[in-house]
Amino acid sequence: MDVFGRIKALFSSRVEDDDVKNESDNPIRINANILKRSAIFCQCGSLQIPIEKEGNIYECIKCHKRSTRNNYNLGQRHYDPNHLKILPRDSSLVINMDYYDDAVRLLKKESNS
Ligand SMILES: [Zn+2]
Repeated sequence: MDVFGRIKALFSSRVEDDDVKNESDNPIRINANILKRSAIFCQCGSLQIPIEKEGNIYECIKCHKRSTRNNYNLGQRHYDPNHLKILPRDSSLVINMDYYDDAVRLLKKESNS
C-alpha cells in the first residue's frame, strides 16, 4: 500500500466492518441497506448502486460500469407546501453521505462472500 492509500485507509476505517454487520442502527449498515434496496443488477452479476444522494446514475461496485436508470432520492423528502401531510422520513431511510464510502466497502465485502 502506498502512502496515500495508507492515509486514506486510516481515515476511512472509522469502524471495523465486523462491528457493522449486525447493527441495524449503525449509519454504515443503514446506508448499505438503502443502497442495496435501490440497486440494479449489473451485466457482470454484481450490483450497480446510486452514486449520490439524488440523481439517476448507478455505478457497479465491482466493475464500475455506469448506467442511467430511474431517478432516486435517498435523502430527506423535499418540503412541499401543497402536501403538508408528507412527513419527514425516518432516519433509517435517509442516507448519510459521510458514510457513503464505508457503506460501499461493506457492500463490496458482502458481495464477495
Ligand atoms: Zn459490474
